[in-house]
Amino acid sequence: LMSRIREHYVKSQVTADLMSRLAMTDALTQVDNRRQLEKYLSEEVKRADRHRLPLAVIMFDIDNFKRINDRFGHATGDIVLMKIAQIVSDSLRSTDRFGRWGGDEFICVATNTNEDTAILLAERLRNELEQARIDESIPVTGSFGVTRFVRGDTPDALVRRADMGLFRAKNNGRNQVVTIFPETTLPV
Ligand code: GH3
Ligand code: MG
Repeated sequence: LMSRIREHYVKSQVTADLMSRLAMTDALTQVDNRRQLEKYLSEEVKRADRHRLPLAVIMFDIDNFKRINDRFGHATGDIVLMKIAQIVSDSLRSTDRFGRWGGDEFICVATNTNEDTAILLAERLRNELEQARIDESIPVTGSFGVTRFVRGDTPDALVRRADMGLFRAKNNGRNQVVTIFPETTLPV
């Protein structure tokens, strides 16, 4: 009986693990979904605050993605999103957390990473997307927003600044990285 109980317990544990992994993974691209990113970000914000560790957020959005859908169809658009997620995942360090925020928007949370390194990282990703031959005839670029954590930041505040950078990158003509420097109100 004990072994059957144990077996049942192990099985339900495996199922529970699988379920929570599914709940945290984006179904299309298989990278972290927004829920996972939010959970991770709130943990890392606490850690950065407590231990005075650098933390950076990079947000990017594919340029003129609607055009890709319009010209090649939604199914091809899906494949492009999958390939973009693959390219960026492969390019990042294991300490960077990367996922799909929604639609054609992605976020990278880079722990132990200061602003200068985050800008270089974003610039590298921008370049890799531009160089990637996703499909012979489908050029892909992205616009990037970068910011770093300052004491007192909430996860929301960080994401909002990264999003602001992304917005400015779009307005400046796309396919570029814009950094938003936090207004420091607390001593660093
Ligand atoms: P911008 O350069 O301003 O970002 O222009 P955009 O055309 O990329 O516009 P925007 O980012 O606002 O819209 C993203 C589009 O991505 C809208 C939607 O039709 C498409 N999209 C969102 N999710 C999916 C998806 O899962 N698959 C496909 N194929 N398309 C998606
Ligand atoms: Mg877009």
